[in-house]
Amino acid sequence: MLFRSTSSEAETVSFKEAVLRCLPDGGLYVPASLMDLRQFFLYMNSGTTYPELVASVAPIMLQGELNPFSASRVAESAFDFEPELVRLDDRYSLLTLYNGPTGVFKDFGIAFLAAVLEELLKNSGRAMLISASRGDTGVSIASAFARRRGMISVILYPSGPIRGLKPADFVPNGGNIIPIQVRGTFEDCQNLVRAVINDRPYAERHGITSANAINIGRLLPQAMYYLYGFIKVKQQLQGDLVFSVPSGNFGNLMAGLYAWKFGMPVNGFIAAMNRNDPFGDYLRGKPFIPKPTVATRSPALDVSSPANFERLAAFYAEAPAVMRNMVCPAAVDDNATLAAIERVWKTYHVPIDPHTAVAFAAAEGLSKSFDPLSHIVVLATGHPAKEAKTMQEATGQVLKVPHGLALLHERADPVAIIEPDLVALESAIASCL
Ligand SMILES: *Cc1c(COP(=O)(O)O)cnc(C)c1O
Repeated sequence: MLFRSTSSEAETVSFKEAVLRCLPDGGLYVPASLMDLRQFFLYMNSGTTYPELVASVAPIMLQGELNPFSASRVAESAFDFEPELVRLDDRYSLLTLYNGPTGVFKDFGIAFLAAVLEELLKNSGRAMLISASRGDTGVSIASAFARRRGMISVILYPSGPIRGLKPADFVPNGGNIIPIQVRGTFEDCQNLVRAVINDRPYAERHGITSANAINIGRLLPQAMYYLYGFIKVKQQLQGDLVFSVPSGNFGNLMAGLYAWKFGMPVNGFIAAMNRNDPFGDYLRGKPFIPKPTVATRSPALDVSSPANFERLAAFYAEAPAVMRNMVCPAAVDDNATLAAIERVWKTYHVPIDPHTAVAFAAAEGLSKSFDPLSHIVVLATGHPAKEAKTMQEATGQVLKVPHGLALLHERADPVAIIEPDLVALESAIASCL
């Protein structure tokens, strides 16, 4: 498959180039060619494991770049965790995506990116990833990239405590991770990531790219867990299939749309937002106007200007009317979110985190507009134990925190503290190498 920039239709690049360049001038990479994966996943069934699915689908997605042997190695080394399809009743299932090291679905894209990059760089070259994180994404990146050959991973944190990293993985201790604290905000960190990628001579000398969601190498593999959800429910489907997706920066929803484009038989997506629903009007066919962010009980969805706007717009531009039928926006407030957590607990005895609850409540609200036999798969994006206070308030239950997630609270010191400035960043990196 080839990739092109949202800013220019003309030039196409390979997956490796798209992953390593990350930010083409003024745009983001999106798939440029279509492919039909149907024959590869239709024969899979509920017995197929996640690494098996990845090992058979990835070589087709990345034909000419990743052979089946390499793909198996990537799948095995990336995924010692799997999604799980939990059937609640005839109407609803959950696809749990929180079984990775940090308890959020982002672990899936990051783990694949690290493993595939190691494979693609095997005989030639090296890469340095520069990524911004507020917290757990940094841990996910560190755990996926730690000890991988040919790669150094720099993680930029805004002011405040840094948690969950293992100092043994840091460059001064013989590892390949460099956490740097920036005296500023998360936005300052994101701007520094863009600045260093756009410093072309420096970026080319060091092989600079990013493990943030701007990298298509993180987004594309997320399409695979939709395929996994599909193969697990398909035998029991009696009507339409719909996915309900808690959406903040819209990476997860984009990945679902790619899965559909690659041949997954799906009848609709619900773009579930909280009170921050900057895309609601846009998805109904009106212009996109960013709104100020308000704080909610589902903080990962508190986004006023989604980072994947250009990718979504490129997708919509091809067939706006089809898209309006395919994606239904919904906005859910905090009271409805807490009520959904309580209802799912009482009805099915299953804990769902507030982000998942937004998608569940949205699905219930829209369910009458779908065919009565349709089945709705709600993406469970976060581990409920990470939102223990909200869970206790909604269900009265005190959830046990798994050992791996408890480690996310341990403090670690950065390797350097810098001003939000490109020269400061480049010299801090130089002093580590
Ligand atoms: C990041 C995140 C989301 C939002 O996903 P996007 O791809 O940004 O739309 C939803 N739920 C949880 C738990 C998250 O961490």
